[in-house]
This record gives sequence, C-alpha cells and structure tokens, in this order.
Amino acid sequence: TDPRLVALVEALNPAQREAVTAPSEHRLVLAGAGSGKTRVLTHRIAWLMAVEGVSAHSVLAVTFTNKAANEMRGRIEQLVNVPVRAMWVGTFHGTAHKLLRLHWREAKLPQNFQILDADDQQRLVKRVLKGLEMAEDRFPPKMVTGWINAQKEEGRRPHQMADQGDYSQRQLVRAYTAYQQACEAQGLVDFAELLLRAYELFRDQPAVREHYHRKFRHVLVDEFQDTNTLQYLWLRLLCGPEAKIFAVGDDDQSIYGWRGAKVENIQKLSRDYPGIELVRLEQNYRSTGTILKAANGLIAHNSGRLGKNLWTEDREGEAIQLYAAYNEYDEAEFVVNRMRDYLDGHGRYSDLAVLYRSNAQSRVLEEMLIRARLPYRIYGGLRFFERMEVKDALAWLRLLVNRDDDGSFERALTTPPRGVGATSLEKLRAFAKQHELSLWKAARSGSAALGRTSGALGLFLDQIDLLDQQTRELPLAAKMEKLIERSGLKEHYKKEKGEQAEARLENLDELINAAKSFERPEEEGLDPVLNFLTHAALEAGEGQANAGEEAVQLMTLHSAKGLEFPVVFMVGLENGLFPSMRAVDEGNLEEERRLCYVGITRARQQLTISYAETRRIHGVEQICAPSQFLKEIPSETLVETRPRAAVLRSSFGVQSGRGGYGGGGFGGGGAPRSGLGSGYEHGNAWRERQQEGYNLSRPALSAKMTAEVGYGGYKLGQRVSHPSFGEGTILSFDGEGERTRVEIRFANAGTKWLMLAMAKLSPL
Ligand code: ATP
Ligand code: MG
Repeated sequence: TDPRLVALVEALNPAQREAVTAPSEHRLVLAGAGSGKTRVLTHRIAWLMAVEGVSAHSVLAVTFTNKAANEMRGRIEQLVNVPVRAMWVGTFHGTAHKLLRLHWREAKLPQNFQILDADDQQRLVKRVLKGLEMAEDRFPPKMVTGWINAQKEEGRRPHQMADQGDYSQRQLVRAYTAYQQACEAQGLVDFAELLLRAYELFRDQPAVREHYHRKFRHVLVDEFQDTNTLQYLWLRLLCGPEAKIFAVGDDDQSIYGWRGAKVENIQKLSRDYPGIELVRLEQNYRSTGTILKAANGLIAHNSGRLGKNLWTEDREGEAIQLYAAYNEYDEAEFVVNRMRDYLDGHGRYSDLAVLYRSNAQSRVLEEMLIRARLPYRIYGGLRFFERMEVKDALAWLRLLVNRDDDGSFERALTTPPRGVGATSLEKLRAFAKQHELSLWKAARSGSAALGRTSGALGLFLDQIDLLDQQTRELPLAAKMEKLIERSGLKEHYKKEKGEQAEARLENLDELINAAKSFERPEEEGLDPVLNFLTHAALEAGEGQANAGEEAVQLMTLHSAKGLEFPVVFMVGLENGLFPSMRAVDEGNLEEERRLCYVGITRARQQLTISYAETRRIHGVEQICAPSQFLKEIPSETLVETRPRAAVLRSSFGVQSGRGGYGGGGFGGGGAPRSGLGSGYEHGNAWRERQQEGYNLSRPALSAKMTAEVGYGGYKLGQRVSHPSFGEGTILSFDGEGERTRVEIRFANAGTKWLMLAMAKLSPL
C-alpha cells in the first residue's frame, strides 16, 4: 500500500508486472523493440529494493554504454527515492576495471596499472614488431593490434595457441606474446585485457569469486543479444549458486556480430540455466501502429528468428514519408525543411534525430543544419570537420597554401609517420623559436643544429614542394584526392583495417566530395582552395550545441540502439550504402536488416525515410538504386513525397543557391503545418523540371564574409592564443577599426566575443 509501490506496478502491463514482481528465478526477457525491456529491468531493481529488501550492494547491472548506465541509475533513484551509489551499474568494461582496481594483487597487476587506449596500444604493438623484426608491410601494426584484441575477446592467451597454424599465424602469436610481456613489464592494460583479466581473476581466484558470489545476488544485463564470448563466460563465473540472472534482449536487434557479439548467447543462456523463466513482451509502447507494422514487415524477411509478434494499442498514426531525393544535398535540405515544419509547431530540437549508416553521411547534413541555424549534436562521434582523418588531410592542403602554418606543418610531418621523432621535432621547434622562423623556414635553413634526421625532414620538404607543383593546376577536388593519395594518408588509414578504417576512408572520400562542391572558381574571383579551407575551419566550430543544450541529434544507426525519439529521419536507403556494399557482396544481409529494424523502431510518432537517386562518391556522381529494404517494408505503410515543382525552383535555383536559406524551402512561408503541409505533392511531376536551373552545388561563402578576412592581421579560421582563455579559432569579426570585435571559439573556454584591440591575442 506504499503509494510508491502502487505507482511502480501500475506503470506496467500484466506481462511486465509479472517479470518485475515474480519471485527470484533466473529470467530471460526476450522481446521486441520498445516493449519495455529496459523499463522492466529498472523497475525490477526498484522492486527488489523496495519490496524484497534487497540492498543496493547486492545488485550488479550491466548496460551497453556509460550513458545508458547513468540513465539507469537515475531512473532507479527516482523510483526508490534514495541514492543508490553502492549499486554496481555500468558497462562490461567499466565493471571489469572496477574489479581490477579492487583486486589488483589477485589479478597480478601493479596497484597503479594504467589503461592503454587504442592509440597507445597500437604504438606499443608497433615497437614490439620492430623489436621482433617483423616487417610492417607484411604485419601492419593496426592489423596485428586488431588480431590481438580479437584473440583476447575470445579468451585466448598466446600459450594456448603455440605451434598452431601457418607461418603468419605463428608470427602473430609471437607478436602477441611479446606485446603481452611488454604490457606486463610496464603495468599496462588495454581495453580487451580489462575483460580478459577480470574473467581470469574470477576463474583463478576462488576467494575473490566466492566473495562476489556472496555479494551479487542479482545480476541484470540489458541488450544481452550483443554480448561477446568472453563477456558471456565472465557473466557465468560472476553468478554464484545463489545469484539470479535477469537478462533482457532482442535477437532481432543483434547488430554487433561484426565486432564479435554472439547472438547465440541467448540460446546458451537457456541451455546453461535450464530452469530459466522465459518472458515475452509483445506490446510495444513506443511507436505508432504504422511504424510498428513497417518494422514487423521488414524483419519478417530474416530467417532463423526466435520469433515474436509486436503490437500496439497506439493509433495508426501518420504514414511513413518516403522521399526520393535528387541527390544528397536535396536529401539533407528536405530533412532540414521537415525539421523546421516540426519546430514551427513548437516541437523541441531534441525531439528530432537523423540516423545514417555511415559516418561520412553526416557532412552534408551538418552543412544544411548549420545554414538553417539549427543546433545539432553528433551523438557518439565527432563532427565531420573535426574528425582526425579530415583534419590530417586538410593540414596537407593548408601547408601547400601556406608553408609557414606551423600547426599544419607538424601535423603533416607526423601523419602519416615518416621517421621524424619527437626529439628531432623538439629540436626543430627550439631552433625555429630561437631564430624567429616558421618551422618550415627553420627546416629549410638546413642547419646542422637539427641533427641527423634532416634526411627524413629534407625528403618531406621536397615532397611538399613537389606536390605543390604537381597539383597547382588541378581543380580543387582532384588536388584534394591527389593529396590524400600522395601524402600516404590513404595507405596509412587503410592499414588500420576493420570498420573504423572503413569509416575513415569514407570520410576522406567525403572530403573530396566536399571539395568538389567548392569548384566554382569564376565566382566572385574567390580562390576555391581558400574558400574551402575557411569553410572547413568555420564549420568545425559552428552549430555545435553545448552539453545539455537543446539540439537535433545526429548519429549512426549503431549508436541509436536503445534510444527513442518522437521524430526520426532515416537517410541514405540505397543499395551499397544501406545495406552496405560489403553486406551486399558477401550476401550477408540479415545483420543489416536488423540494423534497419533498429532504425525504424527508434521512432515514436513520425518516421521519414529517404534515399538519393544520385550521390557523390569519391567526387563522382553515381546513380543509386533504392535499398532493397524499401521493398520489404509493407507498401501500405509508406507514402511517397515529392517536392512541389514551383517550390523546388525557388529552393534550389540560382537565387537561393547563393543566398542560402531565405525561407523559400519546401513548405516554407506560411504553409499549413499539419503533416506535410502544402509544400509537397505526391507523384512524379517534378522530374522534368530538374533540368531547369537545378543547381545543387553549395553556395560560396558570401562576399561580405570574405571581404572581412584580414582584420588587423587576423583572418577567419586563424588559430590564436589568449592569455587567460587559451587557444582558439577565429569565427567572425564585427565592427571596424578600434571597435573591431572578434568572435573566438576557445578549446577550453567556449565561444566568446572580444575587443580585438584589447584582447592581447597572439597568432599560433
Ligand atoms: P529497445 O528494444 O529499443 O531497447 P525496450 O524494449 O528496452 O526497447 P523501453 O525503452 O524500455 O523498451 O520502452 C519503450 C518505451 O515505452 C519507453 O518510452 C517506455 O517508457 C515506454 N513503456 C514501456 N512500458 C510501458 C508501460 N507499461 N506503460 C507506459 N509506457 C511504457
Ligand atoms: Mg532497451
């Protein structure tokens, strides 16, 4: 009769209530998207504490991301109305880390062991390979690192693999052995090692194991379908004879197979805990009837499903809008215009999410959002122009334009690495400072003071000059492409292998596309290269919402797992993009289809799906076929949307192509806001009009902006340092003469307006 308890169970349907309030047994909740799995898990914890008197100490809850873990703790605290700091809520890695800190001795680690991040790990592997005289072209450090991690994730130590396999396999095992020795000697633990160590800690130390068997009486796991082999093994060790496991998951949302997740763990769990209670939840509380129907229809094309039928009491809701865009710019503009329609009806920015298959797709969307002045945040990633590989490639271009740009000089000199070490760079810096030269000029001075690395350094200088000559006459995109190629960046990132490398290469290709859109040299006599670099510097700092601020969310489909939004845009539904080229080639579509299912089921009220009929890939316009998934979504849930021809012209014609957004977009100016408003028509009438003035290249920066370049010796995009705010980038100028104000985005102090005359800036 505690009103809080009443509220606790009243917020649940009978099946959920059963799962939350049932006596403690092993339990597996296997249910589709939006059926309340995560909700059941948090309510279960609250129930255990409030009714069964379970102490926060004896609960271990594991989720997929730190964000989810924090949210879960917050929800539980809300439900039970007390802080639950003593409860272990975290990711697998976080939990493993905590255990190793507490039991460093038993885990045979030094007390102050350090975590090796991905970069550090690779550098160490590289040194190890060198020590073993394993050639880098045959055994690229990135590849070897990936291989070592994969072994660890399967729970394999080098000694278990000794004398197995062919020559390269043996070499790899040799590298693994030496790498592990180096880690031990230096007290270093990489990410995969965290889990493996924690697993071995439980396996080999009965005292520790028994301690936790007494402690953790309730072990709860969210997103169980995406656990990997080692995580599962560890989970089993962690649960003592008294502990009850409570796992929730959805086989239809298993999307990390490529990273070693094993959906079979669901069946394993049922086998390993024979009496486990299986709970199915079938009512979806998230989405409208239409959205759910689309999701169900799509996923029915997968074979070997555990099978479930999701339904909702919610109304049918709006049809899913399907938009066939002319190209990626048209697609992004359409998305932004639909967002504005929604926001005009007083929706919130954070209601809106755009989901895409590949990271590189964010660039054009970002550009349109910035132009429309909609604050956005990229969830679980960096904005396009802030991504490492993009900044690397732009450093090369900057250096061609200005040899004295020290930041770019250092970046290009060291990425990809060319054998100029930290000490030589330090010497060069000191020399440059002493003689008040740029790094380039210092290096060119050929001073003997710079020592014996001058060989590698000299080659680099010559390479830059040569590249400059060779690319001088090339149009911007071709120049960019050549730079990416000849700088060695492409090779460098290719070696990384795996999904991460693919994403980086895609971003480099996307950079060429971006460059292409700046190739209108006649225009206003602007130099496309400078224009492009300014744009990149500005976009890197613009539009980004601060933490906690309202913003539109952009993210990959993978990072959207577990989340929900009132309005969702799923973009780029084209064969070769989604499903990805690799999945198509390998005939392995089921995981991609699950990813599409995850995407659709993120939407609560409105879902818009789009594809582009042409898309620039590698700087070349390519014709795209709509994704086969579109055919698998029941057609009665979709309605095709086309922009109205008249609006089309004002939106993409020369006039707005230059001035950016004038409110003349789709459905702009006073069109009714209900649904799609009058700004759209359904059908195909627009196609023939594409010929007239359908110019989608991006507008150049306005003349005004460029005229402002050069205030008091400073220019837009320039890096500067301020005595108290630190380093930053110039975003804009205002006013004239003594009253000139400058807007600077500081790396650690936010964005500020300062009086230029007073600000005591120094150029970097
Ligand atoms: P996913 O598979 O995407 O992780 P899920 O099964 O974990 O989804 P939840 O996120 O827990 O689903 O729930 C989906 C939405 O439905 C949430 O907004 C949740 O608050 C709501 N919800 C779940 N159960 C109920 C209920 N009985 N009454 C009202 N709302 C509910
Ligand atoms: Mg969930």
